[in-house]
Amino acid sequence: MKQLTAEERKLAEGADQQRMLDRTLRWAAINSGTGNLAGLEHMAGELADAFAALPGDASLEEPARVTAVDADGREVDKPHGKHLVLSVRPDAPRRFLLTGHMDTVFATDHPFQTCSLLDDDTLNGPGTADMKGGIAVILDALRLFETTHEAAHCGYDVMINSDEETGSLSSAPLIERLATDKFAALTYEPSALPDGTLAHARGGSGNFSITFTGKSAHAGRNPQDGRNALVAAADCAVRLKQMQHRDLPINPAKIDGGAANNVVPNHAVLRFNIRPKTTESAEAFSSDLTDLLQLLEKLHEVQIHCHGGITRPPKPVDAKAQKLFDLVRDTGAALGQEIGWQSTGGVCDGNNIAARQVPVVDTMGVRGGSIHSPDEFMIVPSLSERAALSAVLLSRLAKGDLL
Ligand SMILES: [Zn+2]
Repeated sequence: MKQLTAEERKLAEGADQQRMLDRTLRWAAINSGTGNLAGLEHMAGELADAFAALPGDASLEEPARVTAVDADGREVDKPHGKHLVLSVRPDAPRRFLLTGHMDTVFATDHPFQTCSLLDDDTLNGPGTADMKGGIAVILDALRLFETTHEAAHCGYDVMINSDEETGSLSSAPLIERLATDKFAALTYEPSALPDGTLAHARGGSGNFSITFTGKSAHAGRNPQDGRNALVAAADCAVRLKQMQHRDLPINPAKIDGGAANNVVPNHAVLRFNIRPKTTESAEAFSSDLTDLLQLLEKLHEVQIHCHGGITRPPKPVDAKAQKLFDLVRDTGAALGQEIGWQSTGGVCDGNNIAARQVPVVDTMGVRGGSIHSPDEFMIVPSLSERAALSAVLLSRLAKGDLL
């Protein structure tokens, strides 16, 4: 553990707890469910104003086109909000990526819309831990970092996307572009546990919609002329489940389609999710799925269309990433914060960043818990703890050796 220098101590003590809490309360009062485009626009405007306190250029990036398959098998557009990007010293030789998301899982019609202090140290509210508190931490940490002389030799991009909670489909190309060639990345999801434990290795995730088109026929007069799409979809669901193994949980989740009892159904859509734990299992699945669909086309004499894919690649922790974890732990220890880590089955933008071979710690945000539920809470003093941690970490990353 490296002790704090006098300059680092000053940095850590400069965290503005009250301002971060005020910002968290202000932002949590704005509904920004992933589907609430007006709320996201409002939120993006608030964030752009707040991040204008930092140097650099802020821009709102258009979401990439995203489609989904409806129950009839039609591909339909899914609109998304814009993503905020702040680029500071783009020509600096060593640059970082800091990411957060402005969206929450709480739609406008969800009953959980307001904050309340459960006690002096615990704030209950939608998106407080996940992750408006985390965005407040990013901003205050960078404000502090900008006061150091190391900052002048480094640059960074901040990205706050609007669709993390539904898989970052419209921001994935942006994340890929911004992550490329970064020295290190920090993502401000809340800690894995309320004690500050970080998420370490993560599995990946993929969502698929498979459309089966068969041929209708009368169930009694000429069933031999029919090609049953529902049976093909059901067969696919069973065979997918049989492909599951320890490194590859597979969850057939839903079948849409079918017809009246006296009709051979010519249409079905099967939806499923996979959670590959390793890069190898993810790659093997892609080719196994192609083989399976070809087999089913022959066997059931139906046409099959596959939509979707692995959108969160598995995130193993390689040697470079482990050095970043070690640096976070040591910096925490110097600040009197004991920080451990554990692997998780959850996914986040850290998966997409790691896929660019950039070391990332993706739970640098506040301590809290019960996220995605009306019991979501943020531990208020963790705002300044985590801002101090990030500010000192950034100054160490700025002048330290290569990871
Ligand atoms: Zn989150």
